[in-house]
Amino acid sequence: MKKKFYITTSIAYTNMLPHLGFALELIQADVLARYHRISGDDVFFLTGTDEHGKKVAEAARKENKSPLEFSSQIAARFRKLAETLNASNDSFIRTTDKKRHWPVVKRVWAGLRRRGDIYKKEYKGLYCVGCEAFITEKDLKEGKCAIHYKEPEKVEEENYFFRLSRYSKEIEKSIKKNKIKIIPESRKNEMLSFIRQGLKDVSFSRPRKNLKWGISVPNDDNQTIYCWADALTNYLSGAPGRWPADIQCIGKDIQKFHCLIWPGMLFSLGLELPKIIFVHGFITIGGQKMSKSLGNIIDPFNLVEKYGTDSVRYFLLREIPPTEDGDFTYEKFEARYNSDLAKGLGNLTARVVTLAKKLKAQGLKRKITAQNLKFKRATNKTWKNYHKALREFKFNEALIAIWELISFCDRYIEKERPWSFDSAQDKEKINEVIGNLLFAVNEIAELLKPFMPGTSAKILKQLKTKENQPLFPRLK
Ligand SMILES: [Zn+2]
Repeated sequence: MKKKFYITTSIAYTNMLPHLGFALELIQADVLARYHRISGDDVFFLTGTDEHGKKVAEAARKENKSPLEFSSQIAARFRKLAETLNASNDSFIRTTDKKRHWPVVKRVWAGLRRRGDIYKKEYKGLYCVGCEAFITEKDLKEGKCAIHYKEPEKVEEENYFFRLSRYSKEIEKSIKKNKIKIIPESRKNEMLSFIRQGLKDVSFSRPRKNLKWGISVPNDDNQTIYCWADALTNYLSGAPGRWPADIQCIGKDIQKFHCLIWPGMLFSLGLELPKIIFVHGFITIGGQKMSKSLGNIIDPFNLVEKYGTDSVRYFLLREIPPTEDGDFTYEKFEARYNSDLAKGLGNLTARVVTLAKKLKAQGLKRKITAQNLKFKRATNKTWKNYHKALREFKFNEALIAIWELISFCDRYIEKERPWSFDSAQDKEKINEVIGNLLFAVNEIAELLKPFMPGTSAKILKQLKTKENQPLFPRLK
């Protein structure tokens, strides 16, 4: 029996076109999905779009489009992004999907209600459309939301509330004891200190007259279900029979929703908790926050068009620290592209394949010599560091391990100078040196599979002859 493995990204808001931050999340999740697939797990990888709420409705109005028309166009771009980045997602869920998603949202609402966790209350508060959440005075900076630099709306209305406070202790315990493991540790502590102040009940609906764009509350057409209550449910609706998630990948801006409200809902519904919540940071552009108003948004499509899918994947995984903020500039991108990809990986592969063909080293039978053992040891060490790094979500360190093996090969080539070998006279030497190098390049391609699937496949193809025989049989 294969082990079930369910991984999700957050679902992207369709108020604006995809940017580099969501590309990072997709790629991180994709590496994990591919890694587990290769390891033999029965993987389900879900992504999608979060389309309801005021933020999307307002963006649509600015473009003179209906919310559905506008949102569908943006959702199509997100779907395209997953394809463009070669994400191996098994499904793509949209919260506007009336067949797949809506019935589950309604069932969840009914479930919460049955538990006595939904009640009606007059409410007065500050709503930030950017956050799609009620915020408090302490979230403000000079009267504006500290994240969105926008004045919140003063709201006074009757809403349905979710009794989150009831689960405060249980949520705290599960986070503390790593029943929900929040990665990194600093984010876990942040959530725990937040819970210590006491979790309050959450407004879970808005009056229909103030917000039409959403799913209406079952048996109350005057209320629309809060977009987060709607959106979080995608993890159930998008992958029937798959819950609980093994890993949920999210950005740091939405961790309260995923680490507090979502577990609260799951407790209320009597469902299992997600096992791991992996939180990534933000990408800054030349040290500045990426924002529409600064006009510094990097379009991932343009980047892929210019440099190729795997180069973008490589840069984001290698340069951006997995759980901290990281910086993008074109200079940094080109530096990595030239030194690591063109010179490092590209050069080694081309050299080894060319030498193997020139020295007619195809189909070598290899003997284990001391020299070979040194290579076997080097690759074993690489695999060990690589698995460890991936278990700890340190994508950059896994790549560093691979590139250390590349350098090891480069040094070996410089030392052995195989270009000076004579294909008639140096048979034994060729067998050994080219054999070692072909073996290592083959291992490098295997190691790259989750990170740069296209490049890996290309290298593996190059390691075969025209008759599709391996240039070198894989060492057991
Ligand atoms: Zn805000």
